[in-house]
Amino acid sequence: MCNNFNKKFLDEASKALSNHNSDIPQENTHKQFMKEAVDLAIRGMEKNEGGPFGCIIVKDGKIVGRGNNKVTSTYDPTAHAEITAIRDACKNLNSFQLNGCIVYTSCEPCPMCLGAIYWARPEKVFFGSNKKDAADVGFDDDFIYKEINLDYDKRSIPFEQINREEALKAFQIWNEKEDKTDY
Ligand SMILES: [Zn+2]
Repeated sequence: MCNNFNKKFLDEASKALSNHNSDIPQENTHKQFMKEAVDLAIRGMEKNEGGPFGCIIVKDGKIVGRGNNKVTSTYDPTAHAEITAIRDACKNLNSFQLNGCIVYTSCEPCPMCLGAIYWARPEKVFFGSNKKDAADVGFDDDFIYKEINLDYDKRSIPFEQINREEALKAFQIWNEKEDKTDY
């Protein structure tokens, strides 16, 4: 009796929601794209292309870029899912910006990919698993996040500044260059 009542109540509530809340179908779309990103992660890993990471980039409801981790198969430590997806999307869009795009990545981005995403400037990022989940299976992005705040000489890879004056010449020339493409 009680269960029937609850079921009826839930049915009516969900009907009311689908009639009045336009976010519900959209939420399903986001989940569908995230599932695609996870499928890419699994397929890439099964083909031994690299780690278990996938990424989809969507513009106006259409997939414009796909990527999965290809670090080990291409001998490229930068071939993370987000980077390969950004490269694919930008090539397809003939643009170095992801204006109006949404990034769906199977895992929270590492600092390199976070930087790449900021440079590409999409509208929003959805991520599936998080940094802690990644660290649990041996991908310690969290370690790199912590390194960012350390003094140069305290980092596990020491950083040291040399020849600043020399390096500034490139900036001077850029400043004065009249036919540059700003980004
Ligand atoms: Zn990354």
